[in-house]
Amino acid sequence: MSIVTRFAPSPTGYLHLGHAASALIGFARASNAKGRFLLRIEDIDASRCRPEYTKAIIEDLTWLGITWRDQPHIQSCHMADYRTAIDRLDAMDLLYPCFCSRAEIAAAMGAPHGTETIYPGTCRRLDPAIAADRIAHGDAYALRLRTAAAAARAGTLRYHEDGDGWLTANPNPLGDIVLARKDVPASYHLCVTHDDALQGVTLVTRGADLREATPIHVLLQRLLGWPTPAYAHHPLLTDATGRRLAKRDHAATIRDLRTAGTTPADIRKIISCRIGPIPSL
Ligand code: GLU
Repeated sequence: MSIVTRFAPSPTGYLHLGHAASALIGFARASNAKGRFLLRIEDIDASRCRPEYTKAIIEDLTWLGITWRDQPHIQSCHMADYRTAIDRLDAMDLLYPCFCSRAEIAAAMGAPHGTETIYPGTCRRLDPAIAADRIAHGDAYALRLRTAAAAARAGTLRYHEDGDGWLTANPNPLGDIVLARKDVPASYHLCVTHDDALQGVTLVTRGADLREATPIHVLLQRLLGWPTPAYAHHPLLTDATGRRLAKRDHAATIRDLRTAGTTPADIRKIISCRIGPIPSL
């Protein structure tokens, strides 16, 4: 079976060296196997994504020497498909409406506001009649996955991680993740698994920060009858102080490095020095 990989950036800023690593690794893995490399623009969050960043992503990838098959898959054009997948999970009774604000969740957990927390399950225990009444009154809500019930239904989940072999995926530590919100009607987890299946992706190459989300993706694939690709999470690039690169770190954007005279070959060298060799073409 031929390899299909993809690069799936969110156009919320300019690409940095970490993105370049993901894209170059995925491109090399597909090219070396005479497979296909695809581009997906993950732009479901209209409040954070900008068309000018999509344009810049395409320019920067082209400058890096990366080419992709087909037109880029633009997530914001596929909201109805994501809705269909959410409805299927709802029909399995695996979703519930959650009315909690971030501040309420943090307070319930005794955590400072703004800290990432695992949802304590408050609305999972809400009387369905009260939930229906709140929805009828127009209260804003998110749809959350009953992760424990979903995992029990799915049974043993396994996926292949490059370098580690076959692993068992346990989605429970991630808690009841959000699959849809009022302002963003489909979540990253839902869309990424939907699109990996739709685009026929067989190998997901991405940064290690997404490794902990993988069990949820494997769970959604099983529930929705989609194939589970193999995964290859690469080490994250960090700045001089050891912090992982983020879009706010302008010094590391491909755009600024380009302007400063850095060549694509230099970018490959910088990445290889920091996280190990990128497969050569
Ligand atoms: N859109 C995600 C990001 O920019 C990447 C998703 C993925 O590769 O699974 O971080």
